Amino acid sequence: MPEGDTIFRTARTLHLALAGKPVVRFEARTAGLASANDDDPVEGRRVERVDAVGKHCLVRFSGELVLRTHLRMSGAWHVYRPGERWQLSASRVRVLVAVPDFVAVGFDVPVAELVSEDRLARDGPLRHLGPDLLAADFDPDEALRRLRARSRWPLGEALLDQHALAGIGNVYRSEILHIEGIHPETLVSELDDGTLRRVLATARRLLLANVSASRAGVPRSYAGVRRTTVVPSASLFVYGRRGEPCLGCGGAIALRRLGRDARVVFFCPRCQPERREGPSEAPSSLR
Ligand SMILES: [Zn+2]
Repeated sequence: MPEGDTIFRTARTLHLALAGKPVVRFEARTAGLASANDDDPVEGRRVERVDAVGKHCLVRFSGELVLRTHLRMSGAWHVYRPGERWQLSASRVRVLVAVPDFVAVGFDVPVAELVSEDRLARDGPLRHLGPDLLAADFDPDEALRRLRARSRWPLGEALLDQHALAGIGNVYRSEILHIEGIHPETLVSELDDGTLRRVLATARRLLLANVSASRAGVPRSYAGVRRTTVVPSASLFVYGRRGEPCLGCGGAIALRRLGRDARVVFFCPRCQPERREGPSEAPSSLR
């Protein structure tokens, strides 16, 4: 699943390419989108801006209309110049938004809908999202409250729950837990407020660093919203490194499956020991 910072970069790229320009072509290849577009056409509107909210990407058009997409595991937005060759097959296009000088193509996008701003605010899936780690007005107190509301959850699961915190995906989950020296199965109730606040600060720092590390501006051709490369693997402590030596202690990185979705989490059993005696200080070798 793309991480929040990937969606953030996607939205920024789309914004730079599309915002302030008239839509000259809109194509919807899903039944729901097509009928919504028939009722209330997108063509002829202006793109006002493109935002990331949690893992949702919102293309906002004049007249209070919003194209909401969620990329899940499979989807990607690419931006091309008109007439430029696409990197993926046209049969995989789900939605396309063209302005005079760019074409934004949503390939394999599993979730795409056209909704009014009003409906999105009232009963859209964004209403229940937790505080967005990449938002300028990120609210750590509310994030802490929402984590505490999941007291019997392993922290490794709670960090992926977008209703607690919006923005963390599978890669950063492992990295954050490792940096903070916390075993993935540690229950939220076993951690004190200071530790949870450090986890939040680390999560925000990692996501923000990765956003600012990417180049600003729209390259001539930007097929840029690749879904696999979240951060260069060379810069990861544990994710994808099963059996390799921990950069902190030299022990072997382990892998476990966690939660209902049984998604993999990587960790160092030595730097991130299981704790069963209540809150205590985490090892600090990596801070
Ligand atoms: Zn270690």
